[in-house]
Parts: sequence; C-alpha cells; structure tokens
Amino acid sequence: MRDNLPVNALVVAALVTLSVPGPAAIAGGPQGKPAGSATLKAASGGDLQYRYERGGVSFELRSRERAFTAAEAVMVRDSLDSLPVAYLKKAWQGGARKLYRDDATPVRPWTFLTGENGADACAVPPAPWSYIALGDGVFTSADDCYRILVHELGHAVQWNEAGYATVTGTPFTPISWVGNAEPVMGVKSHNGFVTDYARTNHREDFAESCLYYWLAPEELYRVNPAKYQYMRTKCFGGEVSPASARRKLKAIAPVAPAIGSLGATGGELGDLVAVKGGNFMGPLDGGFNKVRFGGKATVHLPASRGLVYAFVPDLPQGEAPVRVTTQDGASHQAAFSVEGEPWWKFW
Ligand SMILES: [Zn+2]
Repeated sequence: MRDNLPVNALVVAALVTLSVPGPAAIAGGPQGKPAGSATLKAASGGDLQYRYERGGVSFELRSRERAFTAAEAVMVRDSLDSLPVAYLKKAWQGGARKLYRDDATPVRPWTFLTGENGADACAVPPAPWSYIALGDGVFTSADDCYRILVHELGHAVQWNEAGYATVTGTPFTPISWVGNAEPVMGVKSHNGFVTDYARTNHREDFAESCLYYWLAPEELYRVNPAKYQYMRTKCFGGEVSPASARRKLKAIAPVAPAIGSLGATGGELGDLVAVKGGNFMGPLDGGFNKVRFGGKATVHLPASRGLVYAFVPDLPQGEAPVRVTTQDGASHQAAFSVEGEPWWKFW
C-alpha cells in the first residue's frame, strides 16, 4: 500500500500500558514486539481480572461464565496493541468498556442488536451493557482473537456514530444500503462487500469493513474504495496499518445475477413466468432488474432476490431465451419458447 506508515503503529505500541493493581505480572511482547513495551498485570477481587489502558481508553477484562487465562489475556492485549488508539478510542466512546469471558455461547441481552447467534463473540455497546462478550472460539488462536476483536470493536465504533439511531443507519450505511431502517433495508448492489457476512446488514458490513481496513486494506480498497476511504478517515484516524498488523484475508469475488430455472419453458403473450435464481434485486433493494425474452425487455415484478415474475412480451413464435440483467451484470440465457398466439389476438 503506497501510504503505508509502519512507524505509527510501532510508536503506538510503545505507548501501551496494561496495568491494574494486583500481584501477578506477565511480561509482554510474545509476537516479536520489543520486550517491556507492554505489561499485563492481574487485578484482584471481583470479576475484574485485568485492565488494558492506553491513550486515555480503558478496557476491563472481566470473568463471567469463565475466567481469562493469562495466555488469553495476552492474546487480547496483543490484539489491542495492534490497533491504533484512534480506533480504540471510538470503540470505547461507542460503548466497548468491558470484555467478558463467556463460555461457548457468548451472552447477549438482545439478539436484535447483535444478530450473531452461534457466533464466537458479540458486541453489546449500549449502556448499561457496554460490553463485548468473548466465547471459547475467540481463543482458538492469537489470530482468531485478533480478527474477532477488530470486528466486534467495529460494532462499538459504529454505535459511536449514532447510538440507538444506528438501526436507521449511520453515515457509512448509504455506501451500500438503501431504506430508512432495519429490517427494511436493501442493498444497492450484491457487490462491494468484503465477505458474504458483510451482506447480512449494514452493521455487519461496517464491522467487516473495519476488519479488512486494518488487516487487508488492499482487499477493501479493491472491493469498495468508498468504504476504504470511510474507514481510513472516519474510523482509524487516517492511519494505515503496518505490515505486522496485516493478515492474508481475501475478499469475496464479485457476483452476477444467475437464473437457476424458469417456471415454464414456453408460453404465450401475457403469461406470467417465474424466473428463479439468485443475485436478483429484491423488493427492498436498490439497483435494478431487467428481464428480457429474446432480447426484448418486459414488465417484471421482483418477489425476492431469488424470484422475479416476468410477463411474456409480444414476440413472434419461436425461441426467446430469458436473461436477467442487474447493475451487477447479466445472467446466462435460459431457454424459453414463445408458443403461438393468445386467443384474444385472433379477434
Ligand atoms: Zn458482528
């Protein structure tokens, strides 16, 4: 990346302190950082096990269904160390105050806000919760912990933009989404997302964009330059990740509309044909669908992203293959033949 500034993160890492009054101390720097650049100190009493402090923000590592092991606390510290203070500060302001260690199933008060049933972690930024819950799966490896934390902190960063109004969207939302409020939001395109999960809703899109901005910025830039710019200026304080903070993540390939099958392979003028497939634009989505029979555009009605109804247009008898086009491209042509003339055309 041409504006890579590796020095910044090294300076930032050197400013890190992890401290809480307590007996046990674990020397930091297992990931090649200079020894002594960070210290992890255990807390004593209650569920507060560790406190991570840096640049005026403070994250509490608290036991809940389980307790953090020392190794897990180090994973959390190293993950946070790899991020710029600007990002941590926005996440903290957005409500990421406590990091709870849960078991296999992180606890969330509302699935509505987190929507990640079965996930390894969840973010619940609004007060009085103001936490990120970390399950067993977070600590499978240091890289898993890093990726998951960057994503979950991203939810708090977005919450910082709008609070409860996040459900109606934040300034980030219009890049890929249309509609006034969840759940009645649609996409402007099926492309421009780094992962399939980012297409779930504008909140996951935001969190996944945070993840890719820091860990694989060239991938985010390739897929969606507007999201890259947004992340850089609005979420990461203009900082670009050093090579040590990056990981080999690959964004998903672009998709185009596809026809799986037609409700009928033949018909006459005015017949309604169900066009089944994928990556169509649904009723809530932006963008457009065009349905053509033998190259002739026709009236159509989208029922979902996988089903569009189209009327057979006025065409002479014969082959009239069906094709769906959206802003994302064109499907292949599905075989269809116009059969005869409708009875009323003989009047
Ligand atoms: Zn998420």
